[in-house]
Amino acid sequence: MISEKMKKLLQNNSVVREMFEEGKRLKKIYGEENVYDFSLGNPSIPSPNKVNETIIDIVKKEDSCMLHGYMSNSGFEDVREKIANSINRKFTTNFNFSNIIMTVGAASGLNIVLKTILNSNDEVITIAPYFSEYNNYIQNYDGVVVSVRANEKDFMPNLEELEKSINEKTKALLINTPNNPTGVIYSEEVLKKIANILERKEKEYNHEIYLISDEPYRELVYEDICVPYVTKYYKNTFVVYSYSKSLSLAGERIGYVVIPSEMKDSENVIEAVTIANRIIGCVNAPSLIQKVVAECVDEKIDLENYKKNRDLLYEFVTNNGFECVKPQGAFYLFVKTPIDDKEFCKLAKKYNLLFVPSSSFAYPGYVRIAYCVSHEMIERSKEAFDKLGKEFINN
Ligand code: PLP
Repeated sequence: MISEKMKKLLQNNSVVREMFEEGKRLKKIYGEENVYDFSLGNPSIPSPNKVNETIIDIVKKEDSCMLHGYMSNSGFEDVREKIANSINRKFTTNFNFSNIIMTVGAASGLNIVLKTILNSNDEVITIAPYFSEYNNYIQNYDGVVVSVRANEKDFMPNLEELEKSINEKTKALLINTPNNPTGVIYSEEVLKKIANILERKEKEYNHEIYLISDEPYRELVYEDICVPYVTKYYKNTFVVYSYSKSLSLAGERIGYVVIPSEMKDSENVIEAVTIANRIIGCVNAPSLIQKVVAECVDEKIDLENYKKNRDLLYEFVTNNGFECVKPQGAFYLFVKTPIDDKEFCKLAKKYNLLFVPSSSFAYPGYVRIAYCVSHEMIERSKEAFDKLGKEFINN
Protein backbone atom coordinates (compact mmCIF):
# COMPACT_ATOMS: atom_id res chain seq x y z
CA MET A 1 0.00 0.00 0.00
CA ILE A 2 1.35 3.44 -0.87
CA SER A 3 2.15 5.85 1.94
CA GLU A 4 -0.09 8.73 3.06
CA LYS A 5 2.67 11.16 2.08
CA MET A 6 2.80 9.69 -1.43
CA LYS A 7 -0.99 9.75 -1.76
CA LYS A 8 -0.90 13.51 -1.18
CA LEU A 9 1.86 13.95 -3.73
CA LEU A 10 -0.14 12.00 -6.30
CA GLN A 11 -3.12 14.30 -5.76
CA ASN A 12 -0.96 17.40 -6.25
CA ASN A 13 0.40 15.93 -9.45
CA SER A 14 -3.00 15.55 -11.03
CA VAL A 15 -3.08 18.79 -13.10
CA VAL A 16 -0.09 17.83 -15.22
CA ARG A 17 -1.23 14.22 -15.50
CA GLU A 18 -4.75 15.23 -16.49
CA MET A 19 -3.39 17.58 -19.13
CA PHE A 20 -1.23 14.85 -20.60
CA GLU A 21 -4.16 12.39 -20.71
CA GLU A 22 -6.43 15.06 -22.15
CA GLY A 23 -3.95 15.76 -24.96
CA LYS A 24 -3.86 12.07 -25.85
CA ARG A 25 -7.68 11.83 -25.75
CA LEU A 26 -8.22 14.89 -27.96
CA LYS A 27 -5.62 13.72 -30.49
CA LYS A 28 -7.45 10.39 -30.81
CA ILE A 29 -10.75 12.15 -31.50
CA TYR A 30 -9.63 15.07 -33.69
CA GLY A 31 -6.30 13.82 -35.09
CA GLU A 32 -2.76 14.96 -34.14
CA GLU A 33 -2.90 17.83 -36.65
CA ASN A 34 -5.90 19.46 -35.03
CA VAL A 35 -4.83 19.52 -31.39
CA TYR A 36 -2.61 22.38 -30.24
CA ASP A 37 -0.77 21.15 -27.20
CA PHE A 38 1.11 24.02 -25.52
CA SER A 39 1.30 22.33 -22.15
CA LEU A 40 4.70 20.62 -22.05
CA GLY A 41 8.18 22.10 -21.66
CA ASN A 42 9.90 19.51 -23.81
CA PRO A 43 12.62 20.97 -26.10
CA SER A 44 11.73 20.91 -29.81
CA ILE A 45 15.03 22.06 -31.32
CA PRO A 46 17.46 19.22 -32.09
CA SER A 47 20.74 18.96 -30.18
CA PRO A 48 23.79 20.27 -32.08
CA ASN A 49 25.23 17.62 -34.45
CA LYS A 50 28.39 17.56 -32.39
CA VAL A 51 26.48 15.91 -29.52
CA ASN A 52 25.70 12.73 -31.46
CA GLU A 53 29.09 12.74 -33.19
CA THR A 54 30.81 12.98 -29.81
CA ILE A 55 28.74 10.11 -28.40
CA ILE A 56 29.92 7.86 -31.25
CA ASP A 57 33.47 9.08 -30.95
CA ILE A 58 33.65 8.47 -27.20
CA VAL A 59 32.11 5.00 -27.44
CA LYS A 60 34.67 4.04 -30.09
CA LYS A 61 37.67 5.54 -28.35
CA GLU A 62 37.28 5.10 -24.60
CA ASP A 63 38.01 2.05 -22.51
CA SER A 64 34.59 0.50 -21.90
CA CYS A 65 35.11 -0.35 -18.21
CA MET A 66 36.38 3.15 -17.42
CA LEU A 67 33.59 4.75 -19.43
CA HIS A 68 30.69 2.82 -17.99
CA GLY A 69 31.93 2.16 -14.45
CA TYR A 70 31.31 3.85 -11.10
CA MET A 71 33.23 7.01 -10.41
CA SER A 72 33.50 9.74 -7.79
CA ASN A 73 30.02 10.87 -6.70
CA SER A 74 30.88 14.35 -8.00
CA GLY A 75 31.66 13.17 -11.54
CA PHE A 76 34.74 12.89 -13.77
CA GLU A 77 37.43 15.37 -12.75
CA ASP A 78 38.42 16.25 -16.33
CA VAL A 79 34.76 16.94 -17.21
CA ARG A 80 34.35 19.23 -14.21
CA GLU A 81 37.59 21.04 -15.11
CA LYS A 82 36.38 21.70 -18.67
CA ILE A 83 33.05 23.01 -17.38
CA ALA A 84 34.75 25.24 -14.79
CA ASN A 85 37.03 26.67 -17.50
CA SER A 86 34.08 27.32 -19.77
CA ILE A 87 32.17 29.20 -17.05
CA ASN A 88 35.32 31.21 -16.26
CA ARG A 89 35.75 32.16 -19.93
CA LYS A 90 32.14 33.26 -20.28
CA PHE A 91 31.61 35.05 -16.98
CA THR A 92 35.14 35.95 -15.79
CA THR A 93 34.77 33.82 -12.69
CA ASN A 94 37.48 31.79 -11.02
CA PHE A 95 36.24 28.21 -10.57
CA ASN A 96 38.16 24.96 -10.79
CA PHE A 97 36.95 21.36 -10.96
CA SER A 98 36.37 21.19 -7.20
CA ASN A 99 33.64 23.85 -7.43
CA ILE A 100 31.60 21.74 -9.87
CA ILE A 101 29.49 18.68 -9.02
CA MET A 102 27.89 16.80 -11.89
CA THR A 103 24.19 16.02 -11.41
CA VAL A 104 21.28 14.15 -12.93
CA GLY A 105 19.82 17.36 -14.41
CA ALA A 106 18.68 20.41 -12.46
CA ALA A 107 16.05 18.32 -10.66
CA SER A 108 18.68 16.29 -8.84
CA GLY A 109 20.91 19.35 -8.48
CA LEU A 110 18.15 21.09 -6.53
CA ASN A 111 17.49 17.97 -4.47
CA ILE A 112 21.10 17.49 -3.40
CA VAL A 113 21.44 21.15 -2.46
CA LEU A 114 18.21 21.05 -0.41
CA LYS A 115 19.20 17.73 1.15
CA THR A 116 22.48 19.35 2.22
CA ILE A 117 21.12 22.52 3.79
CA LEU A 118 17.64 21.80 5.17
CA ASN A 119 16.70 20.82 8.71
CA SER A 120 13.04 19.99 9.40
CA ASN A 121 10.80 23.06 9.17
CA ASP A 122 13.49 25.27 7.67
CA GLU A 123 11.92 27.71 5.26
CA VAL A 124 12.79 28.13 1.60
CA ILE A 125 11.47 31.29 -0.03
CA THR A 126 10.63 31.20 -3.69
CA ILE A 127 9.14 33.82 -5.97
CA ALA A 128 5.69 33.01 -7.36
CA PRO A 129 4.92 32.13 -10.06
CA TYR A 130 7.36 29.24 -9.72
CA PHE A 131 8.01 25.74 -11.12
CA SER A 132 5.64 23.55 -9.14
CA GLU A 133 8.18 20.77 -8.59
CA TYR A 134 9.87 23.07 -6.06
CA ASN A 135 7.08 22.14 -3.63
CA ASN A 136 8.00 18.46 -3.91
CA TYR A 137 11.73 19.02 -3.74
CA ILE A 138 11.51 21.20 -0.62
CA GLN A 139 9.06 18.85 1.10
CA ASN A 140 11.36 15.90 0.33
CA TYR A 141 13.63 17.27 3.08
CA ASP A 142 10.82 18.42 5.39
CA GLY A 143 11.35 22.04 4.44
CA VAL A 144 8.57 24.60 4.24
CA VAL A 145 7.84 26.54 1.05
CA VAL A 146 7.33 30.27 1.51
CA SER A 147 5.95 31.87 -1.60
CA VAL A 148 6.45 35.59 -2.28
CA ARG A 149 4.41 37.01 -5.15
CA ALA A 150 6.34 38.69 -7.96
CA ASN A 151 5.16 42.14 -9.13
CA GLU A 152 2.35 41.72 -11.61
CA LYS A 153 3.64 44.48 -13.90
CA ASP A 154 6.97 42.81 -14.82
CA PHE A 155 7.19 39.61 -12.69
CA MET A 156 10.29 40.89 -10.92
CA PRO A 157 10.54 39.91 -7.24
CA ASN A 158 8.76 42.24 -4.85
CA LEU A 159 11.80 43.13 -2.78
CA GLU A 160 9.88 44.65 0.12
CA GLU A 161 7.77 41.52 0.49
CA LEU A 162 10.85 39.36 0.09
CA GLU A 163 12.59 41.17 2.92
CA LYS A 164 9.52 40.90 5.17
CA SER A 165 9.23 37.17 4.57
CA ILE A 166 12.73 36.40 5.89
CA ASN A 167 12.91 35.23 9.50
CA GLU A 168 15.15 33.10 11.71
CA LYS A 169 13.88 29.92 10.02
CA THR A 170 14.78 31.07 6.50
CA LYS A 171 17.47 28.82 5.04
CA ALA A 172 17.39 29.78 1.39
CA LEU A 173 15.93 31.86 -1.36
CA LEU A 174 15.33 29.87 -4.55
CA ILE A 175 15.25 31.95 -7.74
CA ASN A 176 14.86 30.94 -11.37
CA THR A 177 16.05 33.24 -14.15
CA PRO A 178 15.27 33.11 -17.08
CA ASN A 179 12.01 32.14 -15.50
CA ASN A 180 9.57 29.29 -15.95
CA PRO A 181 6.70 30.25 -16.41
CA THR A 182 7.09 34.01 -17.14
CA GLY A 183 10.23 34.11 -19.31
CA VAL A 184 11.58 37.17 -17.49
CA ILE A 185 15.27 37.61 -16.67
CA TYR A 186 16.51 39.26 -13.47
CA SER A 187 18.83 42.18 -14.13
CA GLU A 188 22.13 42.76 -12.39
CA GLU A 189 20.47 45.57 -10.42
CA VAL A 190 17.76 43.23 -9.09
CA LEU A 191 20.32 40.57 -8.18
CA LYS A 192 22.46 43.10 -6.34
CA LYS A 193 19.43 44.24 -4.35
CA ILE A 194 18.56 40.64 -3.49
CA ALA A 195 22.16 40.04 -2.40
CA ASN A 196 22.05 43.12 -0.25
CA ILE A 197 18.87 41.98 1.52
CA LEU A 198 20.27 38.49 2.13
CA GLU A 199 23.55 39.84 3.49
CA ARG A 200 21.73 42.09 5.94
CA LYS A 201 19.44 39.26 7.04
CA GLU A 202 22.37 36.86 7.47
CA LYS A 203 23.89 39.35 9.88
CA GLU A 204 20.60 39.90 11.69
CA TYR A 205 19.94 36.17 12.23
CA ASN A 206 23.59 35.17 12.47
CA HIS A 207 23.40 32.22 10.08
CA GLU A 208 23.76 31.57 6.38
CA ILE A 209 20.84 32.27 4.08
CA TYR A 210 21.68 30.61 0.79
CA LEU A 211 20.73 31.85 -2.64
CA ILE A 212 19.90 28.94 -4.94
CA SER A 213 19.88 30.00 -8.57
CA ASP A 214 18.04 27.45 -10.72
CA GLU A 215 19.29 28.04 -14.27
CA PRO A 216 18.11 25.45 -16.78
CA TYR A 217 17.10 28.27 -19.17
CA ARG A 218 20.35 30.32 -18.90
CA GLU A 219 21.13 29.91 -22.60
CA LEU A 220 17.57 30.48 -23.88
CA VAL A 221 17.65 34.26 -24.31
CA TYR A 222 16.18 36.13 -27.30
CA GLU A 223 17.28 39.70 -26.71
CA ASP A 224 20.74 41.17 -26.58
CA ILE A 225 21.01 40.88 -22.80
CA CYS A 226 23.30 38.92 -20.58
CA VAL A 227 22.01 36.72 -17.75
CA PRO A 228 24.21 37.85 -14.85
CA TYR A 229 26.26 35.16 -13.06
CA VAL A 230 24.84 35.13 -9.55
CA THR A 231 27.95 34.02 -7.61
CA LYS A 232 29.45 37.42 -8.45
CA TYR A 233 26.95 39.19 -6.23
CA TYR A 234 26.50 36.83 -3.30
CA LYS A 235 29.00 34.37 -1.91
CA ASN A 236 26.59 31.85 -0.35
CA THR A 237 25.15 30.97 -3.76
CA PHE A 238 24.51 27.58 -5.33
CA VAL A 239 24.10 27.66 -9.11
CA VAL A 240 22.04 24.75 -10.40
CA TYR A 241 22.54 24.27 -14.13
CA SER A 242 21.21 21.78 -16.66
CA TYR A 243 21.79 20.79 -20.28
CA SER A 244 18.14 19.72 -20.65
CA LYS A 245 17.20 22.88 -22.54
CA SER A 246 20.54 24.44 -23.51
CA LEU A 247 21.56 21.39 -25.57
CA SER A 248 18.06 19.82 -25.80
CA LEU A 249 19.19 16.82 -23.71
CA ALA A 250 16.26 16.63 -21.26
CA GLY A 251 16.03 12.84 -21.34
CA GLU A 252 19.75 12.30 -20.85
CA ARG A 253 19.54 13.84 -17.35
CA ILE A 254 22.71 15.87 -17.09
CA GLY A 255 23.61 19.09 -15.29
CA TYR A 256 25.82 20.39 -12.50
CA VAL A 257 25.88 22.41 -9.30
CA VAL A 258 28.41 25.20 -8.79
CA ILE A 259 29.60 25.87 -5.24
CA PRO A 260 31.96 28.84 -5.05
CA SER A 261 35.02 28.64 -2.78
CA GLU A 262 33.89 31.95 -1.22
CA MET A 263 30.84 30.20 0.28
CA LYS A 264 31.11 29.83 4.07
CA ASP A 265 32.64 26.39 4.88
CA SER A 266 32.69 25.66 1.15
CA GLU A 267 34.82 22.52 1.48
CA ASN A 268 32.37 20.91 3.89
CA VAL A 269 29.42 21.98 1.78
CA ILE A 270 31.03 20.57 -1.39
CA GLU A 271 31.63 17.26 0.38
CA ALA A 272 28.06 17.17 1.71
CA VAL A 273 26.52 17.93 -1.69
CA THR A 274 28.70 15.23 -3.25
CA ILE A 275 27.59 12.64 -0.72
CA ALA A 276 23.96 13.77 -1.05
CA ASN A 277 24.24 12.73 -4.71
CA ARG A 278 24.82 9.17 -3.50
CA ILE A 279 22.34 9.26 -0.64
CA ILE A 280 19.36 10.38 -2.70
CA GLY A 281 20.09 7.45 -5.01
CA CYS A 282 21.57 9.20 -8.03
CA VAL A 283 25.11 8.07 -7.01
CA ASN A 284 26.69 10.01 -9.88
CA ALA A 285 25.57 11.73 -13.08
CA PRO A 286 25.41 9.40 -16.14
CA SER A 287 28.97 8.83 -17.28
CA LEU A 288 28.78 8.82 -21.09
CA ILE A 289 26.79 12.03 -21.30
CA GLN A 290 29.15 13.73 -18.82
CA LYS A 291 31.98 13.12 -21.29
CA VAL A 292 29.81 14.38 -24.14
CA VAL A 293 28.84 17.71 -22.54
CA ALA A 294 32.48 18.32 -21.64
CA GLU A 295 33.30 18.25 -25.37
CA CYS A 296 30.25 20.39 -26.19
CA VAL A 297 30.61 23.23 -23.64
CA ASP A 298 30.72 25.82 -26.40
CA GLU A 299 27.97 24.27 -28.54
CA LYS A 300 24.62 26.02 -28.92
CA ILE A 301 21.21 25.02 -30.24
CA ASP A 302 19.75 27.21 -32.96
CA LEU A 303 17.51 29.56 -30.94
CA GLU A 304 15.98 31.13 -34.03
CA ASN A 305 13.07 28.67 -34.00
CA TYR A 306 12.08 29.43 -30.41
CA LYS A 307 12.34 33.16 -31.14
CA LYS A 308 10.11 32.80 -34.23
CA ASN A 309 7.63 30.80 -32.15
CA ARG A 310 7.64 33.35 -29.36
CA ASP A 311 7.04 36.24 -31.74
CA LEU A 312 4.18 34.58 -33.62
CA LEU A 313 2.40 33.34 -30.50
CA TYR A 314 2.84 36.70 -28.79
CA GLU A 315 1.15 38.24 -31.83
CA PHE A 316 -1.77 35.75 -31.74
CA VAL A 317 -2.28 36.31 -28.03
CA THR A 318 -2.05 40.11 -27.93
CA ASN A 319 -3.98 40.62 -31.22
CA ASN A 320 -6.84 38.78 -29.55
CA GLY A 321 -6.82 41.18 -26.64
CA PHE A 322 -5.02 39.05 -24.05
CA GLU A 323 -2.35 40.61 -21.85
CA CYS A 324 1.15 39.20 -21.69
CA VAL A 325 4.60 40.48 -20.66
CA LYS A 326 6.82 39.69 -23.67
CA PRO A 327 9.27 37.07 -22.43
CA GLN A 328 13.00 37.68 -22.91
CA GLY A 329 13.99 34.07 -22.30
CA ALA A 330 12.97 30.43 -21.59
CA PHE A 331 10.17 29.11 -23.85
CA TYR A 332 6.90 30.13 -22.23
CA LEU A 333 4.32 32.90 -22.53
CA PHE A 334 2.49 33.78 -19.33
CA VAL A 335 -0.87 35.16 -20.36
CA LYS A 336 -3.42 36.90 -18.12
CA THR A 337 -6.82 35.22 -18.21
CA PRO A 338 -10.02 37.27 -18.24
CA ILE A 339 -11.68 34.57 -16.11
CA ASP A 340 -10.47 32.00 -13.56
CA ASP A 341 -7.39 30.26 -15.05
CA LYS A 342 -8.77 26.73 -14.72
CA GLU A 343 -12.06 27.80 -16.36
CA PHE A 344 -10.08 29.49 -19.11
CA CYS A 345 -8.17 26.25 -19.78
CA LYS A 346 -11.48 24.37 -20.00
CA LEU A 347 -12.80 26.91 -22.48
CA ALA A 348 -9.59 26.79 -24.54
CA LYS A 349 -9.99 23.01 -24.80
CA LYS A 350 -13.19 23.65 -26.75
CA TYR A 351 -10.85 24.85 -29.53
CA ASN A 352 -8.33 22.06 -28.88
CA LEU A 353 -5.88 24.48 -27.25
CA LEU A 354 -4.06 23.01 -24.25
CA PHE A 355 -2.47 25.33 -21.69
CA VAL A 356 -1.36 24.95 -18.08
CA PRO A 357 -3.40 26.95 -15.53
CA SER A 358 -1.21 29.25 -13.45
CA SER A 359 -2.66 27.99 -10.17
CA SER A 360 -0.09 25.21 -10.69
CA PHE A 361 2.59 27.91 -10.38
CA ALA A 362 1.06 29.42 -7.21
CA TYR A 363 -0.07 32.53 -9.11
CA PRO A 364 -3.71 32.24 -10.20
CA GLY A 365 -5.18 34.29 -13.02
CA TYR A 366 -2.87 33.30 -15.88
CA VAL A 367 -2.04 30.42 -18.20
CA ARG A 368 1.35 29.15 -19.29
CA ILE A 369 1.72 28.58 -23.02
CA ALA A 370 4.86 26.58 -23.91
CA TYR A 371 6.25 27.48 -27.33
CA CYS A 372 8.82 24.71 -27.60
CA VAL A 373 6.62 23.20 -30.31
CA SER A 374 6.77 23.11 -34.11
CA HIS A 375 6.28 26.45 -35.86
CA GLU A 376 3.73 24.77 -38.14
CA MET A 377 1.60 23.84 -35.15
CA ILE A 378 1.58 27.47 -34.04
CA GLU A 379 0.60 28.60 -37.54
CA ARG A 380 -2.22 26.04 -37.63
CA SER A 381 -3.48 27.20 -34.22
CA LYS A 382 -4.24 30.78 -35.34
CA GLU A 383 -7.92 30.18 -35.96
CA ALA A 384 -8.31 28.53 -32.56
CA PHE A 385 -6.72 31.56 -30.83
CA ASP A 386 -9.00 33.88 -32.83
CA LYS A 387 -12.06 31.92 -31.74
CA LEU A 388 -10.91 31.91 -28.13
CA GLY A 389 -10.36 35.69 -28.33
CA LYS A 390 -13.89 36.21 -29.71
CA GLU A 391 -15.34 34.59 -26.59
CA PHE A 392 -14.23 37.69 -24.66
CA ILE A 393 -14.84 40.53 -27.08
CA ASN A 394 -17.25 43.08 -25.53
CA ASN A 395 -17.17 41.22 -22.21
N1 PLP B 1 13.80 24.01 -12.88
C1 PLP B 1 12.93 24.54 -13.74
C2 PLP B 1 12.49 25.94 -13.54
C3 PLP B 1 12.42 23.79 -14.80
O1 PLP B 1 11.54 24.33 -15.65
C4 PLP B 1 12.86 22.45 -14.96
C5 PLP B 1 12.32 21.60 -16.01
O2 PLP B 1 11.47 21.93 -16.78
C6 PLP B 1 13.78 21.94 -14.02
C7 PLP B 1 14.23 22.74 -13.00
C8 PLP B 1 14.28 20.53 -14.11
O3 PLP B 1 15.17 20.43 -15.19
P1 PLP B 1 16.02 19.12 -15.48
O4 PLP B 1 15.46 18.50 -16.69
O5 PLP B 1 17.39 19.63 -15.72
O6 PLP B 1 15.96 18.25 -14.29
